[in-house]
Amino acid sequence: MKKYIFVIVTILCYQLSIAQKIDRYNGEITIDMNNRTYQANLTINFGSYNNVDTIKLWIQGGAKINSVISQRKVISYTLTEEELVYGSRKKQILIPVQDIKDKTLTITYNNHFDEIKNERFQYKKEWTEFNIYTDYFPWNFEYGLFDYTLIINSSDTIIAPNLSNDNILKSTKPTFDIPFLISTEATKTITDNEKIHIYSHQVSDSIISDVQNKSKKYYTYFEDTYGPTDIDKLVIVVSDSKRSVSYARPNFISLNFDKKFTKTHIKVLAHEIAHLWWLKAELSTWEDWLNESFAEYSALVMYRRDYGKEAMDAYNKRFGDWIKKMEAPPVWGIDKSHERSNAVVTYKGAFRLLDLEEKIGEQQMEKLLNQMHNRQIKTTEALLDLLAELTGQDTSNWFELKLKQ
Ligand SMILES: [Zn+2]
Repeated sequence: MKKYIFVIVTILCYQLSIAQKIDRYNGEITIDMNNRTYQANLTINFGSYNNVDTIKLWIQGGAKINSVISQRKVISYTLTEEELVYGSRKKQILIPVQDIKDKTLTITYNNHFDEIKNERFQYKKEWTEFNIYTDYFPWNFEYGLFDYTLIINSSDTIIAPNLSNDNILKSTKPTFDIPFLISTEATKTITDNEKIHIYSHQVSDSIISDVQNKSKKYYTYFEDTYGPTDIDKLVIVVSDSKRSVSYARPNFISLNFDKKFTKTHIKVLAHEIAHLWWLKAELSTWEDWLNESFAEYSALVMYRRDYGKEAMDAYNKRFGDWIKKMEAPPVWGIDKSHERSNAVVTYKGAFRLLDLEEKIGEQQMEKLLNQMHNRQIKTTEALLDLLAELTGQDTSNWFELKLKQ
């Protein structure tokens, strides 16, 4: 799989089964690109926690914790030994729950860029990415999805989704990451419809114009076919960052490549843009296939339009063989903690949609997706009802069986 782009989009969360739940983060981060340091002050609000337990939060290796405070009282904590996970140096802050008052905790910490030894995300002066992969904020996936408000103090260009004019970053829906970038050298281009803002670094003009033209083309196609989206701005960052991790967050895409910008990167771009339409279903349950497979299917339709059916079939064969080889479980009811769940909700589900397209035709498929979006469908049950309405009960039953295979 090394050759493929690794898209980390949905991450498991176990909201229902957890004792601890983080509701939101409020705080401030000050970044000094000249001295290569940052300092942060974050208040974490818990929705619930188990009183006999210990809060465990990951934080960047090398980070110095200045204080942990709850209700104006300094509380004690311990730090675990640092470890290296996917090339990222990290450790955990352990805080006894019994010391936390009013479900609120404020952590103040700082770090020097030289301490951040992350192979995939390098803290350079011209282009510095802050996200969950770099552990710059204290986090734990098992504590569920959260909202955030973060004030960013920096004299350089701040690149982020939903950033206000006074540099305040706010989530638009519960999420698992607080992504942003600081750059002293970003190049900015905006598509004529002003919907897509592209920031790039060390990327050739031809790649930028390719990303710009393709983004606009896909956006226009999806809008014409599926109907308008209420998202008014999408931020795309493109960087030749010598790594294969691309990722998407609400209204934000980070597209990365190593020297060569390929058709696969363009397909990732289409997939991430399609999420502006397909992100209504619950992320933590198997219904997430309505987000991932529909985005992947939409991207495959774009791939076919750009490069022809043969090219799409060839592309799919690789993934089809991969899915077969891993003996992927059915899409229906897939447990999100299953090790194959990402492959199933994204690729296996998209193949099922291609099977459906073969059965009902491209036009009916477009109609189905249009109605899915317009009726804000979030569950498979509602999708099957819609399918029955548009194409008959037999087709709907047939598709239900397909999803159970
Ligand atoms: Zn996706």
